[in-house]
Amino acid sequence: MNMEAHPGSSATPPTVTCPYCRSTNTELFSLFGQQLLTEQYYCNNCRTPFEYIKDDVHVIPERTNT
Ligand SMILES: [Zn+2]
Repeated sequence: MNMEAHPGSSATPPTVTCPYCRSTNTELFSLFGQQLLTEQYYCNNCRTPFEYIKDDVHVIPERTNT
């Protein structure tokens, strides 16, 4: 069986930005196992776990930036 699902990346996780502090200092936190569309991530910067929605990565939360 050939495992070439992710060519060019063996163990490099995607860069996930924290929705709270927008830090990229995050890590996968799948203690509860992976769900279909979401993964549990943990922000090392603000120490907050959050859900990363794999199939909706282009949706940016509402910003109150004027
Ligand atoms: Zn954060």
